Amino acid sequence: MPEIATQTSTPLTSLTEDEVLFRDNVRQFADEKVRPLAREMDEKGVFDKALITQFFELGLMGIEVPEQYGGAGGKFFEAILAVEELSRADASAGVVVDVQNTLVNNALLRWATPEQKKRYLPRMTADTVGAYALSEAGSGSDAFALQTRAELKGADYVLNGRKLWITNAKEAGIFVLFATADPTAGYRGITAFVIEKNFPGFTVGKKEDKLGIRASSTCELILEDCRVPKENVLGEVGKGYKIAIETLNEGRIGIGAQMVGVARGAWEYAAKYSQERKQFGKAIAEYQGIQFQIAQMATEIEAARLMVYNAARMKDAGMPFVREAAMAKLFSSQVAERVTSLAIEIYGGYGFTKDYPVEKYWRDAKIGKIYEGTSNMQLATIAKMLLGK
Ligand SMILES: Cc1cc2nc3c(=O)[nH]c(=O)nc-3n(C[C@H](O)[C@H](O)[C@H](O)COP(=O)(O)OP(=O)(O)OC[C@H]3O[C@@H](n4cnc5c(N)ncnc54)[C@H](O)[C@@H]3O)c2cc1C
Repeated sequence: MPEIATQTSTPLTSLTEDEVLFRDNVRQFADEKVRPLAREMDEKGVFDKALITQFFELGLMGIEVPEQYGGAGGKFFEAILAVEELSRADASAGVVVDVQNTLVNNALLRWATPEQKKRYLPRMTADTVGAYALSEAGSGSDAFALQTRAELKGADYVLNGRKLWITNAKEAGIFVLFATADPTAGYRGITAFVIEKNFPGFTVGKKEDKLGIRASSTCELILEDCRVPKENVLGEVGKGYKIAIETLNEGRIGIGAQMVGVARGAWEYAAKYSQERKQFGKAIAEYQGIQFQIAQMATEIEAARLMVYNAARMKDAGMPFVREAAMAKLFSSQVAERVTSLAIEIYGGYGFTKDYPVEKYWRDAKIGKIYEGTSNMQLATIAKMLLGK
């Protein structure tokens, strides 16, 4: 099989035998189980519960978690493959798995104490969805301007405040949540906590009605004298900013993979349709104008994918990857928006209707330029690393 890497110096898109097997399994699952539900989930704005159970059964909710905690003991790259393949069928499915692996499990694996790992990781791999709560109404790009307060009272921290835009919140049992334990210390007061859904004073609030990734829940979180045991501080008090920066650096590669999957999904529909749709007596794919569009789209997808795979491989190799991750997220979200838009045009008027699948891909693509740092924030990171400013 040409895709199996046999030498140390191999093309970026070469996969090991295990990676090919894993990708093909996820692809088959996505085509057979996710794709048929995508339209209805989008219409209703609700994620199918049984699909989440299947994600757990397939090991997709604990890809990098060691086997001793019930995980698959895989690499970050496999999480990227899973997010890409799921997003090719449905971007909401992609983000459920993405947040679980690249943000929540990632933060727990890197920062949790041995006791916290023993308590939470077996749940994360068995049946508990995770959410990652940093943003607030007043702090998005300026994430460390957050207002949620954590005050130590006896053996507990008491948290007060509100979080906004929290992915997976409706389904989640565990939340990695950021609050400030010392507002006078600025970003050095920010602390990460592991919060369980049933902690007193914790409520999941309003669910947003969105343009795209409609099946993925995005909710407000309300903390009213929410009591969190001291031992649920993740990492050190005041080191939450470091946890947030470092997990989001990795998470961005996941969003890049989601966008590559979305672009591929739309491209495949457009390429097929162009060979079926006849105008002026022949398939529109016979016209060079359409051929060039299909070729341009495929070229951009290939470039985005190479960037995403390279950033993920760099992360797994223990190399610095922050610039590459920001570039991969920036570029793949641009490609996804362009490709999905062109896919609608290739479908003509039909593409503009909900009877055909491509308009959903276009709506789903839009979020790639917004969450886990807007495109301007990615450009700021890249510029800072290039210019040292
Ligand atoms: C569907 C969805 C899911 C999300 N999921 C999560 C989640 O799970 N957890 C979580 O914590 N957050 C989540 N978010 C929040 C998301 O990360 C923020 O929306 C994002 O960071 C942007 O913040 P904002 O919306 O406040 O926009 P703002 O920060 O207000 O930005 C508005 C505009 O100003 C620009 N801008 C801001 N500052 C600058 C600057 N210094 N220079 C140049 N331009 C600038 C931005 O690029 C943008 O174009 C989610 C959001 C959405 C929509």
